Amino acid sequence: MNVSKRYDIIIAGAGLSGLSLAWYLTKEKYSGQILVIDKSFAPINHKTWCFWGKKNHPFAEIAHRTWKDTYFSALDFSSKLSLKDYLYFCVKESDFKETILSTLRKAPNVDLLEEDILDFSSNSSKAVLITKDNNTYLADYIFQSIFMPSNYDASTRKYPLIQHFLGVEIKTDDEIFDKKTFTLMDVDSDFNDGFAFMYTLPFNKNRALVEYTIFSAKPLKKKQYKKKIYSYLKDKYNLTKENYSIKRKEYGEIPMDDRPHTPVYSSRILNLGTVGGFTKPSTGYTFSRVHKYSKKCAQALTKGLKPPIPQTSSYRFRYYDLLLLRVLATNVPDSRKIFRSLFKNSSLDRIFKFLSEETNFIEDLMVLASCYYPPFLRALTIHPPFFTQFDKSYNANSKRLQKKIDVFENFDQIPDSSFQDLKGTVEQNHLNKTIS
Ligand SMILES: Cc1cc2nc3c(=O)[nH]c(=O)nc-3n(C[C@H](O)[C@H](O)[C@H](O)COP(=O)(O)OP(=O)(O)OC[C@H]3O[C@@H](n4cnc5c(N)ncnc54)[C@H](O)[C@@H]3O)c2cc1C
Repeated sequence: MNVSKRYDIIIAGAGLSGLSLAWYLTKEKYSGQILVIDKSFAPINHKTWCFWGKKNHPFAEIAHRTWKDTYFSALDFSSKLSLKDYLYFCVKESDFKETILSTLRKAPNVDLLEEDILDFSSNSSKAVLITKDNNTYLADYIFQSIFMPSNYDASTRKYPLIQHFLGVEIKTDDEIFDKKTFTLMDVDSDFNDGFAFMYTLPFNKNRALVEYTIFSAKPLKKKQYKKKIYSYLKDKYNLTKENYSIKRKEYGEIPMDDRPHTPVYSSRILNLGTVGGFTKPSTGYTFSRVHKYSKKCAQALTKGLKPPIPQTSSYRFRYYDLLLLRVLATNVPDSRKIFRSLFKNSSLDRIFKFLSEETNFIEDLMVLASCYYPPFLRALTIHPPFFTQFDKSYNANSKRLQKKIDVFENFDQIPDSSFQDLKGTVEQNHLNKTIS
């Protein structure tokens, strides 16, 4: 095993959450030594990240496109809706990565390293990362977006839904798209693979990403998504395969977890991004939550404080998510009615504010009152308010987590342990995983 340099911070995984944190640290002028490690920094463009935010959002400059208008359609309601306080941003993965990596390459306190990570370990005073090439890197803290926490058990979810989608970016011969209006949801009763809809991002009059998105328990075969997209293009835009070329495809599966993830991998190792449970269960949106935490964390570290522990949503918002997940998982026609009524009766700004979990209780009630409510009443009887345990082991997990956080909070008082111990723990953990 090769012993390598020691850092203040290691960021393991240079995807959305890892790079966001690194970017905020440089923006805040954090002076500690940072290692950013990923299997590859090669430019890729597999994802298109969208989110809503204010005009002056820090990532506004690298947004590929922004929109103020959207088209929504479900059952007998279709309408063009406009945003007032927010813009809907679209950031290409390649632009995001290139911009941030070029900033990091210029930063004297940041090392970028391409290696495959095998595992982590920590004690109360240090964290260690080991790579498949048997190199080890030590730090005060590791922020990781790679491995699910070891106590994560997908089988304990009440509603094991995923948001899965396949999109094709097409270039058409003719100018047919309204580039000022993206389609947030086009729900059609022919889309019957779960609660499903088309999502379209027009980049230009003749270029758009068209995605078939489903909330259900299992992904489809790739050709099933494609079939739906091709027939949608024919029905909606009268496009046949002769009229366009496919420039890119994008596939994703985003967990819609109804239980919180533990934010701590082990003391001094924090979970970020998808594995940290940053995804909003009922929507799959992750970008804004990652961005909010990264900023807060970078500010704390720059001030010499401990990194804040990522918080789960408040009970109130987790409860609303749970009710909606129940409807989505058990009743597709009712789900369509809920979305139809929501977008018909509430303003888009209010819906986005609610989904950002920034509404007050009165505003929540206004949003909920605008929805078709019988399915929610039925869900309330299954999950009564104030008595709902989000999962049986949640309390036990919270207690365990609190213990870890206590250790994490008190690390300054604990004497330095030997580097050898940490390496041993990683090797033993890895051995245990291999055996089991
Ligand atoms: C196709 C797609 C589109 C999405 N669109 C949106 C959207 O529009 N809006 C939104 O809010 N959310 C979206 N999401 C959800 C979420 O924002 C993304 O999945 C996001 O990339 C999650 O960020 P992350 O940092 O957790 O993981 P990632 O961005 O996947 O980063 C993980 C990193 O870890 C590296 N890595 C993994 N294993 C190892 C290893 N063993 N050693 C070294 N490095 C390793 C990977 O190379 C990667 O760079 C989308 C997801 C997908 C899949």
